[in-house]
Amino acid sequence: MGTPVLEVGKKVFGEKEVEEVAKRCVKRERPKWYNAIPKGKVANVYLVIEAQSRLIIRHEQETTDVTEIPTPYGFSVPAILNTKVQAVVRRTLLSMLHEWYDRIKETARKELLWDEEHDYGCTMRPFMKREKGGAPEEAFTGYCGKCPNCLIFGYAVQEGAGYNVKSRVEGDLYVATTPSERAVVQVTFNAVDDITKTTQMPGTETGALYTFSMIEAGTLFVGKLALKDVTMAELLLILAALARTARIGGRQTHFGRIKIHIPAILFSTHEEGGGYELALKILGKHREGAGLEEVLRELDEYVKRFGSQGVLVQDRDMGDKLRELTQEELDSVILQAWRDARVFKESLDLFVKKPEKRE
Ligand SMILES: [Zn+2]
Repeated sequence: MGTPVLEVGKKVFGEKEVEEVAKRCVKRERPKWYNAIPKGKVANVYLVIEAQSRLIIRHEQETTDVTEIPTPYGFSVPAILNTKVQAVVRRTLLSMLHEWYDRIKETARKELLWDEEHDYGCTMRPFMKREKGGAPEEAFTGYCGKCPNCLIFGYAVQEGAGYNVKSRVEGDLYVATTPSERAVVQVTFNAVDDITKTTQMPGTETGALYTFSMIEAGTLFVGKLALKDVTMAELLLILAALARTARIGGRQTHFGRIKIHIPAILFSTHEEGGGYELALKILGKHREGAGLEEVLRELDEYVKRFGSQGVLVQDRDMGDKLRELTQEELDSVILQAWRDARVFKESLDLFVKKPEKRE
C-alpha cells in the first residue's frame, strides 16, 4: 500500500543518510523468539519544546506550582517531566492510529488479516492509584496490548493475565533555558457570580479568585528521548507523533499550546547526553535566558561531540518535514508499524514460552 517506508525515511533523514539510519534500526520480518531480545540500538532524539501559549506544568500533588529544578548558577528553571511528555505523545499516536483505522477499515482488515468483525479499540484511561501510605501514581487501563502504541510505549496487564511490556521510549527531563523568575508568571483568574455580578461568592471570604503559576509563552525546553530497538516504521511513527503533539499540561482547553522541534538524532549503541546537561551549558552562556536561535545553535554544537559515537542526523527542519508528510506516506508508515508490532508481540509470546518450546 502506498509509498515504501524507506522512501518516507529518505524524505525525513535525507537521501544519503537513510541507508545508514536503516542499518541502525532493527528488522523484524517474522515472529521469532530472537526478535524479543534487546539489540542495543538506540536513537537519541534531541528536542526543543517551544511554549506557544502559556503552560500549566505541575507535579501531581501540587495544584498551583510550576515544576522547577535547581541549577549551579543560583537560580532555578522550570522543567517538564517525561511522564507529561510521554502521555501527550502517546495520546497523539493513539489518535493517529484511530483516524487511520477508521478511515481505511476494510483495507486494514485485509492487510493485517483481521476478520470482518474486527475493530480497533485501544484507549488510554488514566486513573490515580495509591498504595497504602504512598503518593498517588498515574495508571492506565484500556490498552489493547496488540497495537503499535502498546508495543512501542508499553502496557501493563492485570496480575495473572500474561506479561507486561516495557516502553521502548525513554526520557527524563525537559529543562527550560530561561530562569524561573523570567519564565514563570502568576496569573489570577476570576469567576464572576451570575447574581451579584461580583467575584464575591456568598459565604466565602476570598470569593471566586484563584491564582495559577504559569510558564510564559516563548519559553523553550531542551531534552532527549531514547528510542530502543525500533524498526524504521516505528521510528518514523514515533517522530511523526512527536512532531504532531500540539499541547501539554493542565487546562488544555485554554492553555498548553506547544511546538516540538526535532533538530538532531544520534543513532548509536547507547544513550548520549540529556536535557539537564544541555540546559546548563546554554544557561552558563546565557544567564538571562536563550532564544530559539541560540538554543538551536548550542544544541547543534552539543550533539556534534557525539558524532563519532554513531550516525548523527542534524536538520533544523526535521520537525517540519515530519509535519508535512502526506496522508499516503503516513498511511504506509502506520501499516508497516502495525505489522512490526504484531511480529514483536508474537516474538515475545514465543520468548516467554519455556525454552524447549521456543523453536
Ligand atoms: Zn493498543
